[in-house]
Amino acid sequence: MKSKFSPDKNGYFGQFGGAFIPELLYPNVKELEDNYIQIIESDEFQTEYKSLLKDYVGRPTPLYLAKRLSEKYGAHIYLKREDLNHTGAHKVNNTVGQILIAKKLGKTKIIAETGAGQHGVATATVCALMGLDCTVFMGEKDIERQAPNVARMKMLGAKVVPATSGSKTLKDATNEAIRYWIQNPETFYLIGSVVGPHPHPDMVARLQAIISEEMKWQLKEKTGKENPDTIIACVGGGSNAAGAFYHYMDDEDVELIAVEAAGLGVNSGESAATSQLGEVGIIHGSKTILMQDEYGQIVEPYSISAGLDYPGVGPLHAFLYESKRAIFMNATDKEALTAAYELTKIEGIIPALETAHALAVLPKMDLKKDQVVVINLSGRGDKDLETYIEHLDK
Ligand SMILES: *Cc1c(COP(=O)(O)O)cnc(C)c1O
Repeated sequence: MKSKFSPDKNGYFGQFGGAFIPELLYPNVKELEDNYIQIIESDEFQTEYKSLLKDYVGRPTPLYLAKRLSEKYGAHIYLKREDLNHTGAHKVNNTVGQILIAKKLGKTKIIAETGAGQHGVATATVCALMGLDCTVFMGEKDIERQAPNVARMKMLGAKVVPATSGSKTLKDATNEAIRYWIQNPETFYLIGSVVGPHPHPDMVARLQAIISEEMKWQLKEKTGKENPDTIIACVGGGSNAAGAFYHYMDDEDVELIAVEAAGLGVNSGESAATSQLGEVGIIHGSKTILMQDEYGQIVEPYSISAGLDYPGVGPLHAFLYESKRAIFMNATDKEALTAAYELTKIEGIIPALETAHALAVLPKMDLKKDQVVVINLSGRGDKDLETYIEHLDK
């Protein structure tokens, strides 16, 4: 699908994107760039990818009309149930696709970065499935706060390497992964979001696009129309949002809402609301919007949710923001917690903390009675139970 939101041949979405990489990585990135579209569009890939998504991941994920949530907010609210995927989030759509691409390119060693541990688990899972060697870089602080996912990765046979620099979170894990990649360019860097040098953002968006591909026929079946009025998704790097928006980006009648984490408040100094606080710069090989100080040093982001605790957004999202195609909203830790308890109580679904940020904008919106809203329920909350229990009585 060629869209005005597809990257140009150099990997730019408007002024954002590109591949700012050291010389040593060039052959590896070029090899991927020369092959990824052809591989993804081949019948062989599509057959294997779709078959794994169906029988291994459990797709299509349901599109569920949340009746009590709809009543409460006075609109037709559908939840795209990515939380029901194997491994508990949308991330596996991407890792299943990339592992097939890695195999096609003859790669046997996989590296990845992870924040909440979800991408690490999704990567370790597909490496186990394919019998490939897996190393996951993870911030030391995230290793502490996401212990169950660390245990899962180890059980799945992955090596978990702590990143001990900076804030010891996701951006530092990404730095470590890129550093290792430079020293070991024969490895396949299985990136976890629509970030990094071209072609990674476009490749990951294409692999997550299955979300909106299914939404189209599911909405048609349920409402008679392929297009909803509004789609809401949370944004860390932006992969679940990219997948939920993908097949609707050129349909200007569909309102796209991206929700960032405001932490303790957008202007509190403890936030990850990148579009509000960021400026144009280069992070992890890509020109995008990122949080930086007057010297161009990255400002440490903060969110209660490890998956949204990232100082940048992918270049596609920077372009959606700048071109005003998507509306960028945000939710604080507190608003996200409230939204998570609410969904749990009235629908019996415990969402991931990341996802709770998307739910948290419902009270801030001016919804109309007939408005069809799809919220991308990016993941389930099992991994966040400790945080939820801790804040239950507050
Ligand atoms: C990782 C994660 C996110 C954030 O990543 P994106 O690339 O922005 O989608 C959101 N929700 C869940 C459940 C996650 O695990």
